[in-house]
Amino acid sequence: MTRKPVVEVRRSQRRRRTVSAYRDGERVVVLIPDQFSRAEESEWVDRMLARLAAREGRLARSDAELLVRASRLIDNYLPEYGSAAVPASVRWVTNQNGRWGSCTPADRTIRISHRIQDMPDWVIDYVLLHELTHLIVPSHNAEFWALVARYPRSERARGYLEGVAATAAIP
Ligand SMILES: [Zn+2]
Repeated sequence: MTRKPVVEVRRSQRRRRTVSAYRDGERVVVLIPDQFSRAEESEWVDRMLARLAAREGRLARSDAELLVRASRLIDNYLPEYGSAAVPASVRWVTNQNGRWGSCTPADRTIRISHRIQDMPDWVIDYVLLHELTHLIVPSHNAEFWALVARYPRSERARGYLEGVAATAAIP
């Protein structure tokens, strides 16, 4: 369902070239320089609405998107395992505050905590790849970590998550 939002254009004499937009409840406020013509105004409003929609679409991370992400990670980092690394289901959950992700190898299900939903893509990829790897190697042994290390930003992502955990006091 797409509904065209109510747009409020605010002209600013202090602005020279920069345009910005933000959502304010049901409205979208677009800030433009005062010297813009009507044509420029309407062009920029369209452009900013498209940009805002793209930004919000990226944040609305769905279970379907997780599955797409999972198959891309398997292709890139675990190609020789093929279907052995494909989960039966992978979904976002909100009841998992102590862990970023979890995997049940017996029924091949993976759950990812909503707490990482707004984190950078490369962190989500790490958490997901970590859980996918558990479908192949259930425990945290040397073989497991060797597979996870195929993802170039593994260590950086672990550092990122440790930093967040330390701040939020998550074990
Ligand atoms: Zn693990």
